[in-house]
Amino acid sequence: MPELPEVEALAAYLRERAVGREIDRVEVAAISALKTYDPPVSALAGLPVTDAGRHGKFLDLTIGSAGSAGSALHLLVHLARAGWLHYRESFTPTPLKPGKGPIALRVRLSDGSGFDLTEAGTQKKLAAYLVRDPAEVPGVAKLGPDALAVTREEFEQRLRQRRGQVKGVLTEQDVLAGIGNAYSDEILHAAKLSPFAITDRLSAEALDRLYTAMRAVLTDAVTRSVGQQAATLKGEKRSGLAVHARTGLPCPVCGDTIREVSFHDSNFQYCPGCQTGGKPLADRRLSKLIR
Ligand SMILES: [Zn+2]
Repeated sequence: MPELPEVEALAAYLRERAVGREIDRVEVAAISALKTYDPPVSALAGLPVTDAGRHGKFLDLTIGSAGSAGSALHLLVHLARAGWLHYRESFTPTPLKPGKGPIALRVRLSDGSGFDLTEAGTQKKLAAYLVRDPAEVPGVAKLGPDALAVTREEFEQRLRQRRGQVKGVLTEQDVLAGIGNAYSDEILHAAKLSPFAITDRLSAEALDRLYTAMRAVLTDAVTRSVGQQAATLKGEKRSGLAVHARTGLPCPVCGDTIREVSFHDSNFQYCPGCQTGGKPLADRRLSKLIR
């Protein structure tokens, strides 16, 4: 699942490849992926791509100039769990057929290149919005401060206000924007904190470690990701992970075996040696099976 570093890298990639080019047309293959109808995607034809950025995990393509007419439009995309962006040097001229394939949306640029927004699997959660102001997208409007921009003071405030297990709270986008399942595992590991620590009981010292770890993990991942081609980005993400998706492997810090716990609708990984005083956390999924 693309999180802050990957979306930042995709935005950087689009700034390099798409900004300055005009949109030829946008084809929607998965009708359900496009969440807005006014303005229609046909309004983009002939307009230049003027910027690419992100809001939390939302990719934001600015199209047209904000100039005196205030006519800039924003194509916002949330890639969800299995969405991705594929840049192509050229396409066949045949229009995309709406259907069940992985392509949700195709953006054709006037020089013949462009990109596909794709989604693997059967759960279709990728969401695209064409709006005049990013704040019209509910998911964007409710975002908390960006995880890489939040100050230490605001970070503490927001975490303490949302009482809960730190693993979950870190990924709540209205608390902090940009962190998902993978980087919250990495951040908690770097901070040597139990995923089940309760936010409003964290000491000032633990919050310092968490804040420092968050900045270090995300900055490092952005540095590794930006400049990667979209195609190699996922591999790059995986190679930089210390605990996430590494169940059963040795911890690169202490050598203990990385363990997995089911949490909400997914799994997370942690190192008992680094994070929980050597004690494995109870896995409710396993205890249910045993009973
Ligand atoms: Zn460890």
